[in-house]
Order: sequence, then structure tokens, then C-alpha cells
Amino acid sequence: MKKLLFIFLLIVLAIIIYFLRGSEVTYNLDTYVYELPFKEGTKHKVVQGYGGRFSHTNKAALDFAMPEGTPVFAAREGRIYSYKDDSNEGGLLTNESKANYIIIRHSDGSFGCYWHLKQNGVVTKKGFVMKGQLIGYSGRTGFVIWPHLHFAVKRRLNYEKDAFVRTKFMTTKGIVLLKAGESYKKPVIGMVIPIEKFNK
Ligand SMILES: [Zn+2]
Repeated sequence: MKKLLFIFLLIVLAIIIYFLRGSEVTYNLDTYVYELPFKEGTKHKVVQGYGGRFSHTNKAALDFAMPEGTPVFAAREGRIYSYKDDSNEGGLLTNESKANYIIIRHSDGSFGCYWHLKQNGVVTKKGFVMKGQLIGYSGRTGFVIWPHLHFAVKRRLNYEKDAFVRTKFMTTKGIVLLKAGESYKKPVIGMVIPIEKFNK
């Protein structure tokens, strides 16, 4: 009996380690400094980071927890490439194709992908958007547990590991790669960030 319990605990431990360690993601790293895709002065938690085992296996994607209807801002300037905002379906049993989204094409040819937006939640449907411009509202459409914004930058619009690019963001903690479990605040314009916080 004791032996069985021991084996059971080992299996549980192995599963926990598997999820905590996450999966391998691309070495691609953008030199561009992105803005957090939400309002200045607000803070959101990264509930799933790069390579997360829930739905980011081999994907350099970030999930920011935010209530439905939270304004979403462009993390980088570019041209609206495509969008969808007619779905009101979301949940663990919902197909990912039901997700509303915006894709912005950047000047270097990469794509900024903003996912799970609310129904009729796309504000900017064509043309050029500036960095920091309001583009839509978050939601919980497609394959989701809780409302969040899924953000990823890609070189090609498929799910191969190296189609993704890791990106640094300007935060009140400096210019950083974001990690799961941490909260990040978007600096307000004119806010002075101590130089020692940069390039960690
Ligand atoms: Zn995600």
C-alpha cells in the first residue's frame, strides 16, 4: 500500500514538473520594444507565458488576464491585416476557430496577433494603426477558460515553433521579456523609469 502511494506521488510530482517547466519555444527574439497591449497605468497578470503547457506548447505567446470588455491597444504600429469579431462562443469545449481576433502587419513583415476578443469588439477594421492606439475590446471567444487577451508576434501565420518571435516590452519594471505568474504595469507617458531597470 505504501509503495503504491509512493508511486502515485511520484507521478503527481512528474506531472507538476512537466507543467512548471513548460515547453521549448523559438530562439527568435525581436529587437523592437513593444508596448503592453492595454491602458497606460493599468496592470495585468501573465497567466500563461511562452511555452506554457495548457495551450502554448512550443508557442511564444502570452495570455494576459483581463475582464471581458477591457480596451486593447496596439503593441506596435502597423496595418490591419485581418480581423474577426462576429463570434460569441467561447469555453473549454469551443473550437479555436470561434475566437475573434485582430492581426496587424508590422513594417518588418511580422504579424501582431490579438486573440479572444469580445463579439463586435474590433474597433479598427482597416488601415494603419499607431502604437498605443485603441484597436478593440477583450473577451473570451474561442478556446478559453477565463477571459484573457492572447498576444503573439509571428513571422508566418502558422503554428510552427519558429514562426513565432519572442518580444520585449516596456513596463514599469524596465524593458523585459514577460514571465508567467508576474503582473506588469504599462507606464504612463512621461513616467521616468530608472535606467538600472533596463535591459535585464
Ligand atoms: Zn494563449
